[in-house]
Amino acid sequence: MVKKVLLMVACVLFLAANTMAFAEDVYVTANGTKYHKADCRFIKDRETQKLDKKAAVEQGYVPCQRCSKEDLAEQAPGSDSEKVSKSKKPKAKNEG
Ligand SMILES: [Zn+2]
Repeated sequence: MVKKVLLMVACVLFLAANTMAFAEDVYVTANGTKYHKADCRFIKDRETQKLDKKAAVEQGYVPCQRCSKEDLAEQAPGSDSEKVSKSKKPKAKNEG
C-alpha cells in the first residue's frame, strides 16, 4: 500500500525536523559561564565562540537570563505552582 510508505516518510521527516530544531547555535565568551543567542547585547562587543547549544549545556554553560529566559524556565525544576503576583506595594523595601 502506498499509504503505509507515505506514513513512514512523514514519520522520518518529522523526526528529522525535530532533530534539526534541536541543533541550535549559541555563543559563549572566553571566561563566561552562560551561553547567549547571536543577537544578545551581552556579547555584542565581545569575542565569542560559537557552540552547539547541546554542547554548551554539556560543558556546563547555563542559559543567559537576558536572551535565553525560556531555556531557564525549561530547566527550572517545576516551580510553577507558586505564582508571583504583581501588586502595587506602597511601602518600598530598602534592598542592598
Ligand atoms: Zn545573553
